[in-house]
Amino acid sequence: MAQTIISVKNLTKKYGDFEAVKGISFDVFEGEIFGLLGPNGAGKSTTLEIIETLREKTSGEVIVDGINLDKSPNQIKKIIGVQLQTSGYYPGLKLTELIELFGGLYNEPVKPLELLDMVNLRDKAKAKFKELSGGQKQRFSIATTLINHPKIIFLDEPTTGLDPQARRNLWELVIDIRKKGTTVIITTHYMDEAEVLCDRVAIIDSGKIIAMDSPDKLIDKLVATGFERPKEVKQANLEDVFINLTGHGLREEN
Ligand code: ADP
Ligand code: MG
Repeated sequence: MAQTIISVKNLTKKYGDFEAVKGISFDVFEGEIFGLLGPNGAGKSTTLEIIETLREKTSGEVIVDGINLDKSPNQIKKIIGVQLQTSGYYPGLKLTELIELFGGLYNEPVKPLELLDMVNLRDKAKAKFKELSGGQKQRFSIATTLINHPKIIFLDEPTTGLDPQARRNLWELVIDIRKKGTTVIITTHYMDEAEVLCDRVAIIDSGKIIAMDSPDKLIDKLVATGFERPKEVKQANLEDVFINLTGHGLREEN
């Protein structure tokens, strides 16, 4: 049995009278890619930000790598990597300068070029953040999560708004990061993405977890109820056409 690295019990979050998270419990295992899936407003970001120590919870218990959130939030901060919204960067700084700035904040020595290599951005080292394409910005923000060599990284909708090539490229990056032993928690509302990436998912709706398992088992359970998809009449879909025509290569002209 895998080791639990994050344990969430009966977590609730109220914004005024509105209960955004309604008593959810889940465990994340060391080394897995765990997906929080759900429609907009389901409570995904709220849940992540509470675990990341960026938002106060209303009640419940959160333990990260044996550290109790109520007792030592600063200890938790040291072992996690959090992706900022891409609007959170100084647009006029070069990528290497931004990495050095983050290294300073974390009090970690950094090797900007090595980090940029990891996310395939070495040739943009001298570019300013604002000059990057959407996919490049996302890859860069993932690089910044790795600066403090975290045990766990949190990615909140990292592929929203990306084109199909950039999306696939980001999936490979996430898989690479996990291969190095980092646990990944990711939110998405793209089910194809969750199916490719996630070992297990929790489906969250209106602040409650309504299902949790591996994508494969969830699909099997649905099929076992007699569910049948309308028969696919074609061997490919429009996304296959698009990728076939335009290739897997990244398009980042700037
Ligand atoms: P998700 O990330 O799944 O889209 P969120 O966690 O961002 O969902 O939001 C869950 C619910 O809480 C939504 O109804 C949202 O409007 C509400 N909410 C989020 N942040 C705040 C806030 N700071 N104040 C009040 N309501 C909020
Ligand atoms: Mg969100």
